[in-house]
Amino acid sequence: MARSSAWAEPFKIKMVEPLTMTTREQREKAMEEAGYNTFLLKSEDVYIDLLTDSGTSAMSDRQWAGLMLGDEAYAGSRNYYHLEDAVKRYYGYKHLVPTHQGRGAENILSRILIKPGDIVPGNMYFTTTKLHQELAGGTFVDIIIDEAQDPRSNFPFKGNVDLAKLERVIGEHGAEKIPYVSIATTVNMAGGQPIALANLKALRALTARHGIRIIHDMTRVAENAYMIQQLEDGQGGRSVAEIVKEICSLTDGATMSAKKDALVNIGGFMATNEWEVFEEARNMVVVYEGLHTYGGLAGRDMEAMAIGIEESVQDDHIRARVGQVFYLGQKLIDLGIPIVRPMGTHGIFLDAKAFLPHLPQTSFPAQALAAELYMESGVRAMERGIVSAGRDKTTGEEYRPELELVRLTIPRRVYTQAHMDVVAQSVQRVHERRDRITGLRMIYEPRYLRFFQARFEPIEPGAADQR
Ligand SMILES: *Cc1c(COP(=O)(O)O)cnc(C)c1O
Repeated sequence: MARSSAWAEPFKIKMVEPLTMTTREQREKAMEEAGYNTFLLKSEDVYIDLLTDSGTSAMSDRQWAGLMLGDEAYAGSRNYYHLEDAVKRYYGYKHLVPTHQGRGAENILSRILIKPGDIVPGNMYFTTTKLHQELAGGTFVDIIIDEAQDPRSNFPFKGNVDLAKLERVIGEHGAEKIPYVSIATTVNMAGGQPIALANLKALRALTARHGIRIIHDMTRVAENAYMIQQLEDGQGGRSVAEIVKEICSLTDGATMSAKKDALVNIGGFMATNEWEVFEEARNMVVVYEGLHTYGGLAGRDMEAMAIGIEESVQDDHIRARVGQVFYLGQKLIDLGIPIVRPMGTHGIFLDAKAFLPHLPQTSFPAQALAAELYMESGVRAMERGIVSAGRDKTTGEEYRPELELVRLTIPRRVYTQAHMDVVAQSVQRVHERRDRITGLRMIYEPRYLRFFQARFEPIEPGAADQR
């Protein structure tokens, strides 16, 4: 399907970190102690860690060298200026406010732009993004195309906005109630699905007519740009860097978790083209993060981020990164495992509803599948389904998302092809005994972002879940 097929890594390995192997018995005990929540496992007990691609990338020798160039002045660190330069050069945004990670930027931006009663349409929600919109008094409305909800649809740009849905939201609430449209590149919760450049341009034209901003969750913009290069008509001859910059140019501001695409272990920023928003953000960052020239980061972190941004938009890097993810996905497809199609750019999503059709959503099939996979082989994945979706803030009802997924997220530049083979075999072994997987019961539920800390226990075989 993709224009490029050879994806061999454009690097060689200079330093290694040993992995620990555990026995099935040790893993069962560890899983029980962790309340059947892979977020509560100790990393030491994990063999191949596919929990997240967030902050788990391997930095390059240039980035490590950059750490030594940290200018740890309280104010006006030279690393801040280097970062500002990288953001301007590769993304094109005018004003930068660094933050400790993505949600720090979301907090500040939501507080500045959203008033109580406002509506924030977006191409599917992301957990922390939506929570900050709600904490600021806004209500998120999903305007992603219907194909995004269908794990069997092969539509290549499932991150696209349904413009008719947006028109209806504007008609119903009025443009003045909509501070911005929230656009993610690529859409994490839909399974790492890209938005097409043509769709973004059409969205830009529509929002411009109504005077509504577009705010860009640019956490995985390089991966999105790569998919545009690979699949969108007329884009094959352009570099990823060019496409990244064009995507950013179609939006008014951004929040970034640099822990993903930008290849650092910690860091993020907010960017805007509007001076007033920037002024307000500079005021607010002092309250929540730190001075506007460090935003909760060390100078060395900003240096590594500036270098990471440059590395992240190189064609050979991104081809290898996405190529490895697709390699794992193709293996699973060949083994007959139900996964979300098309494959995501940062991970492969197992379709837990299809994998465990005998379990009702109230028995947390994706949570149960992630626990089984860990106990099978020490591979750590995470739930993206009913647990992650949480509850409606007014009614207290559980959301029942269409998609009930287990995410196998691939850290950048960390694991090898042989590791991907081990992961595929592990999933296959769980799949062979899927009929005997019974599901879970939640025994502890935190108030916010419950998936991080919720605890579960297995439902006894034969006992039907009563809820
Ligand atoms: C990770 C992520 C965030 C939040 O960023 P953090 O650095 O984890 O705070 C926001 N949006 C998307 C799409 C993400 O993947």
